[in-house]
Amino acid sequence: MKKYNFNAGPCVLPREAVEASIEAIRDFDGTGIGLLEISHRTPGWERVMAELEQLWRDLLGIPEEYAVMFLGGGASTQFFHVPANLLKNKAAYLQTGVWAKKAVKEAKFYGDVEVVASSEDKNYTYIPKGYTIPADADYFHITTNNTIYGTEIHEDIDSPVTLVADMSSDIMSRPVDIKKYGMIYGGAQKNVGPAGVTFVIVRKDLLGSSERKLQTMVNYATHIGAEARDNSMFNTPPVFPIFVMYQTLLWVKRLGGVEKMYEINKKKAGLLYDEIDRNSMFVGTAEKEARSLMNVCFVMAPGKEAFEAEFMAFAKERGMVGIKGHRSVGGFRASIYNACPVEDVEALVACMKEFEASKK
Ligand SMILES: *Cc1c(COP(=O)(O)O)cnc(C)c1O
Repeated sequence: MKKYNFNAGPCVLPREAVEASIEAIRDFDGTGIGLLEISHRTPGWERVMAELEQLWRDLLGIPEEYAVMFLGGGASTQFFHVPANLLKNKAAYLQTGVWAKKAVKEAKFYGDVEVVASSEDKNYTYIPKGYTIPADADYFHITTNNTIYGTEIHEDIDSPVTLVADMSSDIMSRPVDIKKYGMIYGGAQKNVGPAGVTFVIVRKDLLGSSERKLQTMVNYATHIGAEARDNSMFNTPPVFPIFVMYQTLLWVKRLGGVEKMYEINKKKAGLLYDEIDRNSMFVGTAEKEARSLMNVCFVMAPGKEAFEAEFMAFAKERGMVGIKGHRSVGGFRASIYNACPVEDVEALVACMKEFEASKK
């Protein structure tokens, strides 16, 4: 049976990226040796790293004054790398979910942290507004897409201090005005590749701004310096996830770039939210204006709660995978990242319609 993959992360990848990566494991770049068996100092690999960086720059319009790095450790490691490198006295955080809260926790190891607003009071179903960003903060940290709750900050906000964003789950889903940010980071495994590589985009003048003595690997400067061949190769980079990311971005480029992804993503999310709003069996959990284009959360409508397990089984029979909501929200979550085809969303919509009809 055909499977429709709505996993939240790791999640669906473009088929072509997967196939090209399998081929590279067998034979990397016509060398007769597999990708997992070559040295990362071979010229073919250095070319992949350079092209990957250029793809990031071209797709997102990243200017020269920003460094682009590919590191290990996941977004969770950035939760402490960010304050280690940028927090001198005080940082401000917007707490829009559990990932944001975890970032706050790590920042507290390095200095004063002011949570300017939190939506925890309503289980993170909205994005706080009307808060004040303290002008004396070294930076203001936001989580642009809240993967667990299905809320998203849809625009590049204006911040009087350096803006830092965890974009783990919506990077490359829409055009971004990079210049509004001092730094953007995230784990690859939602929208740009498999688990194992973390992207870090940072304005170079911010390096060293915490004035803290840092361990070599924690210091961003290490990863763009001569010893790293200017290219995230201070130590052995995670070559396989990086290669899959490279293939994934080549696919984004072939499809028409981030503008095109955004158009497709709006269409996919529109189809699904329209059905949730129309279908008498379901209701969405996130406030409408905060609804994420990437993670669509919904539960059974009031009075229909008893049907939850039945719908889960019904959807499973029709090939739907990964639609169980996170335990802290319950119900269902369909993650419809870049690589999720429109047809898969249409199949889920058809399944929801069929379920409703079966109850009449
Ligand atoms: C998944 C996720 C993380 C955690 O990423 P890891 O790479 O597993 O550490 C952090 N922030 C957001 C928004 C996420 O979706």
